[in-house]
Amino acid sequence: MDTTSKLALIIDDPDLPKMHRDIAKKVQNQERISFDEGVYLYEHGELAYLGVLANYIREAKHGDNTYFNRNFHLEPTNLCVYDCKFCSYSRLIKQKAEGWELTMEEMLDIVKKYDNEPVTEVHIVGGVLPQYDVAFYSALFTAIKKHRPELHVKALTPVEYHYIFKKAKIDYASGMKLMKEAGLESMPGGGAEIFHPEIRDQIAKDKCTADQWLAIHEEWHKLGMRSNATMLYGHIERFEHRVDHMERLRQLQDKTGGFQTFIPLKFRNQHNQMDHVPEVSVIEDLRNYAIARIYMDNFDHIKAYWAMISRQTAQLSLNFGVDDIDGTLDDTTKIYSMAGAEEQTPAMSTQEVANLIKQVKRRPIERDTLYNVIKDYTDVVFDDEVKPQYYKLPVVN
Ligand code: SF4
Repeated sequence: MDTTSKLALIIDDPDLPKMHRDIAKKVQNQERISFDEGVYLYEHGELAYLGVLANYIREAKHGDNTYFNRNFHLEPTNLCVYDCKFCSYSRLIKQKAEGWELTMEEMLDIVKKYDNEPVTEVHIVGGVLPQYDVAFYSALFTAIKKHRPELHVKALTPVEYHYIFKKAKIDYASGMKLMKEAGLESMPGGGAEIFHPEIRDQIAKDKCTADQWLAIHEEWHKLGMRSNATMLYGHIERFEHRVDHMERLRQLQDKTGGFQTFIPLKFRNQHNQMDHVPEVSVIEDLRNYAIARIYMDNFDHIKAYWAMISRQTAQLSLNFGVDDIDGTLDDTTKIYSMAGAEEQTPAMSTQEVANLIKQVKRRPIERDTLYNVIKDYTDVVFDDEVKPQYYKLPVVN
């Protein structure tokens, strides 16, 4: 049975609570759900029910298309002046022995390593340190673009921008303009965590506030540029904090239209100050993706980072609203592995990503950062591909 028929069955099912049916009807009519309905879905939405609603929206927007890109990360440092309680990545200045601080030259050497690789994006993000300032990042972006003009520079979050602009005594609008002129092309979604101060003050007290995070994205969008947004879920927040978070993003998106993708990030509890907080289950991960897809009606894409939630959960998520599983990575990021993710050396070849998507009957589409289609791998047969076959078992008489 297709998803449209499944949704119709839900709407007509007299045994379901009225609120379940009303929300399903809204989804069918492409109507926005309210804050209270979002909280209701978290409190009462069963996985199968949410899956039908989210899948309906996903397929209406993208059919079976599932996006990925070929990218690598550049992480200038894992030392940080901040002390976010959930962070497994940062080594405070006193733990400097466990940290790294790349020079400009070292970073450019990493970029040059990919000169003969068909990557389309460099994703730059790391800790916050005083020497990585406006001048440094401007010079870095300019040098990367000069070396390889077609490589898309997706870099830094409002956490870094707020810090470096404040230090340089420039406002957000002027700062983002400077970054654009230097070569910045889009912003990743990090640093959002949970916006609500009741939670943010406990887990990420000193870095930029929710309003500052949103203001920096707004300035960036005003320049005609695109960015992503994340939400760190599954720790001490309550369901209404998640909906509040999504609501703030939805409102800014109504205003600017500059966001491309919403990325729920699962809290992992290893090697950080919140290791006593249990992680949520895979079921909750899938419910969360589905509710995000239903709630964020004005976001085109919902992404699952396969490196953070595992390849198998990423496959499952494609039936719960997700249409993007991020990139090939080439083991260039430590952010997920240091937090205890299953993938300790995250890297997938294009063939592996494409096959992962095909195994669950979706279409693997390589995209660039701005979602222009580069290649549809649905019918591509890779040279060394092993065809599915039946194996004979020994017969015991
Ligand atoms: S989450 Fe980011 S800002 Fe916070 S401590 Fe870690 S690296 Fe620093």
